[in-house]
Amino acid sequence: MASTKSYAAQAATTPLAPWTINRRDPKPHDVQIEIKYCGVCHSDLHTARNEWGGTVYPCVPGHEIVGVVTAVGDHVKKFKVGDLAGVGCLVDSCRECENCKDDLEQFCLNGMVGTYNGEQKDGSGITFGGYSKSIVVDEAFVLSISDKLPLDAVAPLLCAGITTYSPLRHWKIGKGHKVAVLGLGGLGHMGVKLAVSMGADVTMLSHTASKEKDAARLGAHHFVLTSDAEQVKKVMGSFDFILDTVSADHDYNFYLGLLKANGVMVCVGAPPSPAQIPAFNLIFGRKSIAGSLIGGIAETQEMLDYCAEHDIVSDIELIAMKDINEAYERMLKGEVRYRFVIDMATL
Ligand code: NAP
Ligand code: ZN
Ligand code: ZN
Repeated sequence: MASTKSYAAQAATTPLAPWTINRRDPKPHDVQIEIKYCGVCHSDLHTARNEWGGTVYPCVPGHEIVGVVTAVGDHVKKFKVGDLAGVGCLVDSCRECENCKDDLEQFCLNGMVGTYNGEQKDGSGITFGGYSKSIVVDEAFVLSISDKLPLDAVAPLLCAGITTYSPLRHWKIGKGHKVAVLGLGGLGHMGVKLAVSMGADVTMLSHTASKEKDAARLGAHHFVLTSDAEQVKKVMGSFDFILDTVSADHDYNFYLGLLKANGVMVCVGAPPSPAQIPAFNLIFGRKSIAGSLIGGIAETQEMLDYCAEHDIVSDIELIAMKDINEAYERMLKGEVRYRFVIDMATL
């Protein structure tokens, strides 16, 4: 066991503060990683504050992890000491069920193990995430990271990147598709970059007027301020696909109205309250509303390789570990441009 510095929430209402955790010694298939950077996902905040229920305290969030391999178990084949490595949102699954065999470990029928707040399969307790100095993970759940891209800006790809890449690929988005990305935050800005890189015509739907210039810089072809009725009227019934990344409660019915016939709205944002959607809003226009959760390990590696090839990273603001609580408040105010990343040298 290695005693490891971390930052944890001790309860839903207390700020995150320094705490010490124990990491296991590497088992034969394990990779030990010194964490260099960890992105700050809105899911970290939802979980630390128990907004979805089910948080076990103390809770160490963080699932956008990149670092350097410091030790490997005897049977590890993919990694050696000194390699760059990444860990995303899951660290284990049963590996035997239909979904695991289909490279969809995130939907493991026996329950995937989240990087934090997950129950470990060996009975050793709850997982602790990347707001820490090191982590030990089975190599089957560790990703290879290219040295071509800036490591700090790669971190958010491990959640924000794969969460937007996976639905765009699943629904085969590309040239000729009119795509709207709803919400310009961590997920949203990756959604814009990826959808543009795949050849789609991309509209940013945002409730923040000041983000219009950024949306254009990120590659969006059009911008619609969702509080401006005139602007919204012009795009009613016009999109093939809406990628909804909004973290707060919002009216899905309003956005379903922006879909063309046969259009699909995919929810990746996970607001705390359930939605009410009259069937008629789907019946008229044969519209679909769907969801998508991160991505499997093979697809996450595919996305990382795709981003290295296309020179795609996250736009980040590097912060010190001690500033995490302020970062959460700024994320809630929509002030992040567009992902906070913690520099673990400051822990
Ligand atoms: P974020 O950086 O805070 O971005 C959320 C964006 O939502 C904001 O930038 C804002 O964009 C928009 N928004 C916020 N409040 C709003 C409101 N009241 N009405 C309308 N729009 C509002 O968060 P994130 O890290 O991208 O995460 C977004 C959501 O995805 C969270 O719920 C998170 O838990 C979830 N998530 C899901 C998965 C998955 O696998 N499905 C993975 C990761 C995260 P504008 O200012 O442009 O309107
Ligand atoms: Zn996340
Ligand atoms: Zn499984």
